[in-house]
Amino acid sequence: MNLNETHDPDLTSWVKSANLEDADFPIQNLPFAVFRLRVSDESLRGGVAIGDQVLDLARLAETRAFDSDINELLQLCAGPSLNAFMGRGAAAAAALRRALSQALRTGSELQQQLQPCLVAQELVEYSVPCRIGDYTDFYTSINHATNVGKLFRPDNPLLPNYKWLPIGYHGRASSIEVSGHEIIRPQGQTKAPDADSPSFGPCRRLDYETEVGIYIGAGNALGERIAIDDADSHVFGYCIFNDWSARDIQAWEYQPLGPFLSKSFASTISPWIVTSEALLPYRVEWSRAADDPQPLAYLDSEHNRSRGALDLKLQTYLQTAKMRAAGEPPYLLGQSNFAQSYWCVAQMVTHHTVNGCNLQPGDFFGSGTQSGTSENALGSMLEITHGGKQELALPNGELRKFLADGDCIIMSGHCEKPGAARIGFGSASATILPANPI
Ligand code: CA
Repeated sequence: MNLNETHDPDLTSWVKSANLEDADFPIQNLPFAVFRLRVSDESLRGGVAIGDQVLDLARLAETRAFDSDINELLQLCAGPSLNAFMGRGAAAAAALRRALSQALRTGSELQQQLQPCLVAQELVEYSVPCRIGDYTDFYTSINHATNVGKLFRPDNPLLPNYKWLPIGYHGRASSIEVSGHEIIRPQGQTKAPDADSPSFGPCRRLDYETEVGIYIGAGNALGERIAIDDADSHVFGYCIFNDWSARDIQAWEYQPLGPFLSKSFASTISPWIVTSEALLPYRVEWSRAADDPQPLAYLDSEHNRSRGALDLKLQTYLQTAKMRAAGEPPYLLGQSNFAQSYWCVAQMVTHHTVNGCNLQPGDFFGSGTQSGTSENALGSMLEITHGGKQELALPNGELRKFLADGDCIIMSGHCEKPGAARIGFGSASATILPANPI
């Protein structure tokens, strides 16, 4: 994958809202989602964002505005999940991107045919854009791992394997939901440090995790592995991801096999998959400090060192029920950058398959909570409140150790730099409801 005409920052669209300076979805982005008109019995189908509109790919396939090769790809996007299209790999994604870029450009001859295929984003609802067969949660931010490790082991926060491999575990795919949903506060077993036995009840240390979501496109056969320099061609795209956590349930249950019910009750994705190709201008150097262990050969390459990381800015906001009722804006909890991740996406893909494990189209990775080094760059309440020891004071006087019922967490992300079009991700939001009666 290389920069091409679709990345030209001077391109504009005949969809005027795509040309605004702060637009999330300019013509250089063209992310995919699955949508339908809100509160309707319409079929879910694929769409591409352009400005404040969705280009309806099912309707577009019916117009036969494109040649048969492109029309076949559009038909793969016409149903309620994008797996078949994602599984076609990077070349197919690039072909459709180029065709849509040309058709949406200012002056395109196809404007008349495409115009009726646009639907305003404010009128639609989204679905999880593909069937997620397997979800794997990584732990790639060394700042987060260090901050959390310090709470338990102040002198030795990182475990010995951390700097040698991208730590991960198998998560739960069925509870991944699209932005705008509600979460019922989970219940489970917790045990206070000084108690003799655990008790059962609603989670009291409910937390968010600011992460990047990664969708696999073309998979690999069972028994074969993906080489690091091929890894990017297996990544269809990215979203913003909130991997909710019940810290008190986790603390009691996680040994010796890792997190279980503390993680499987909910995860929130932003609706749009921003493609790997759209993000090419924001690939940056990946490096490892000279006094840290250098990656084993299978996790290292010249290409990955030159452009393995992604300069993606992440923001997380909290709006409490009281703030909402008073019409107050959400409060910025933290902002971090995925470029600071200790392990990059190609290394996650390569490591995941090094044992011969097969990835499949639509499989999903969480990057792990992304935290920076400063107090305003933390990706969880656990870090902001030092494990619940320091209350966070909100501008309206409310206090938080962890999240309360009625709290809404809103995450967003974007890439921005001089000389390239801004690439936005939209947002991932969800609101916490009280636990069900026991
Ligand atoms: Ca996670």
